[in-house]
Amino acid sequence: MRKFKAESKKLLDLMINSIYTNKEIFLRELISNASDALDKLYFKAMQENLGLTREDFEIVIAKNREDRTLTIRDNGIGMSAEDLENNLGVICHSGTLDFKKELTEKDIDVIGQFGVGFYSAFMVAEKVEVKTKKYGEDKGYSWVSDGAEGYTISECEKDTHGTEITLFLKPDGEEERYSNYLEEYEIKRIVKKYSDYIRYPINMFVTKSKKDEVEDKFVDYTENEVLNSRIPLWKKGKNEVEEGEYNEFYKEKFHDYTDPVRVISSSVEGAVTFNSLLFIPSHAPFDYYTKDYEKGLQLYTNGVLIMDKCSDLLPDHFSFVKGVVDSSDLTLNISRETLQHNRQVKVIANNLEKKIKTELKKFLDSDREKYEEFFKSFGMQLKFGAYAMFGAKKELLQDLLLFYSYKENKYITLDEYVAKLKEEDKYIYYASGSSLESVKNLPQLAKVKDCDVLLLTEDVDEFCVKVLSSYKEKEFKSVSEYVSNEENESEKSKENKEMLDFLGERLKDRVKLVRLTEDLGSHAVCLTTQGELSLEMEKVLNAMPQSQNKVSAEKVLEINSEHKIFEKLKSLFESDKEKCASLADVLLTQAYMAEGVQVDDIAGYCDKVCALLTE
Ligand code: ADP
Repeated sequence: MRKFKAESKKLLDLMINSIYTNKEIFLRELISNASDALDKLYFKAMQENLGLTREDFEIVIAKNREDRTLTIRDNGIGMSAEDLENNLGVICHSGTLDFKKELTEKDIDVIGQFGVGFYSAFMVAEKVEVKTKKYGEDKGYSWVSDGAEGYTISECEKDTHGTEITLFLKPDGEEERYSNYLEEYEIKRIVKKYSDYIRYPINMFVTKSKKDEVEDKFVDYTENEVLNSRIPLWKKGKNEVEEGEYNEFYKEKFHDYTDPVRVISSSVEGAVTFNSLLFIPSHAPFDYYTKDYEKGLQLYTNGVLIMDKCSDLLPDHFSFVKGVVDSSDLTLNISRETLQHNRQVKVIANNLEKKIKTELKKFLDSDREKYEEFFKSFGMQLKFGAYAMFGAKKELLQDLLLFYSYKENKYITLDEYVAKLKEEDKYIYYASGSSLESVKNLPQLAKVKDCDVLLLTEDVDEFCVKVLSSYKEKEFKSVSEYVSNEENESEKSKENKEMLDFLGERLKDRVKLVRLTEDLGSHAVCLTTQGELSLEMEKVLNAMPQSQNKVSAEKVLEINSEHKIFEKLKSLFESDKEKCASLADVLLTQAYMAEGVQVDDIAGYCDKVCALLTE
């Protein structure tokens, strides 16, 4: 018995004994090795004119329930006794992973992502037997190990070149049913998931049933089936892809029942060479706006899946994008650095971000109706993206945003809003509320006469425009500020200063200021704000679970000086100041309610209204 090298033993222990949830990847590893061995022989055959073609190569999976064995066989280059000793006696002999003493639990993930290699077989097998014969040699060799201490190598009978790896599966335990790996559907699933795009056929005899017409019953029979589809769709040129193929691929792979609205396929050569195939779903998954949703793209290297959801490939603002990235460059750089810090991944991610942006802009320009549908699902994410990181991505995202136009009664882009402005116009006006209906009824809108107003109805909206701050040199401005900053006090205000000050004093717990306005149409009063914090922002911030110190906007009660109620207030101020204050209090509560701001003492309000009604 030969002993494993020290570091190999350590890795083995780690792999076998850690509770590594993803045991199924052993099959991916063995299939990848088999595929490599086939590649090696294929290139040798090309160089030395051996008369072999790709069609001669295959990988076979065989299962045996009685023996509880699973065998993976290839007719590739095979190994000599020396190769066996060098390759399977030392872990990562050929790889760039440099296993040092400090190998710890946390490294298991890195190993998992980049191929745990041949030894992953011991996650599911109590014994592994490798029978192999090197191409062009006469003798075959067998390598056997139970993974614990060491291994034996001996000569054995083997007719053909290549390698056959037999796993003697561990007994079923409570936590893991290893015999699952002998089930056809399970093997098929794992192969489809990780090794679908291996270039060589992965064959397995599968049981099927057909009707025996004579006996009039169903009988089982076995038939060879190729388990993998072999050519990655993303490596096919656009003209090689058949109609509907992208859509089918998307639906099957990403479990959606509707076609994607956009497909972005690209092949990039440069600092990092990669193929990618991205999809923009037509609707948000049910958990999209929850913390359970995981963004990410599938990452392949040479047709082998190494990560199911590589989140570093997608920025948060495009987290709805699905797809795959395949880059052979990644394998070259598998050192101990983790994927997060991998420079190539960053290069790919930056490239994809630009591609997605360009495609969405094209989508917006060419198919507005569908884009609006898309925006209903994912617009919020784009707005969050524009707002996040103090607007670091606003340049990228602002042209993809839609807002509802008051004048046009439809969604418009910022560009469309600005296009309608005159040169001297300085502002992009907006008004916020909880729904289109409620914003449209805001008294403040009556003040804005000539210009359009963007109606903001989502929590994030106002934060978003605040961070954007301006677009094409036009500044965002709330309609509440439309007149509030006008310096000239009207004659009427001056005349009624005493009353306004009196009301301001009486209502000072709930408003900063009481003033007159003329532009409220049929509305008697309205509530506006001064300063940075708007009513909507106050509502949103205070609704956040973590907000302990409630914020408060500086509220202003505006009274319509053209309204009858103003005359009423005036005469009460002369005859009965208490009643005047009480009426103003009722009006203020109404203004609160119109804005959807919480009213604390509804019962008190009702009493006051009743008192007024019964005078
Ligand atoms: P890696 O594939 O990352 O190099 P492995 O532990 O999976 O590491 O395999 C070690 C080596 O064993 C491989 O590099 C290869 O030389 C050899 N090997 C493994 N499987 C096969 C096979 N099916 N046919 C020929 N050689 C193999």
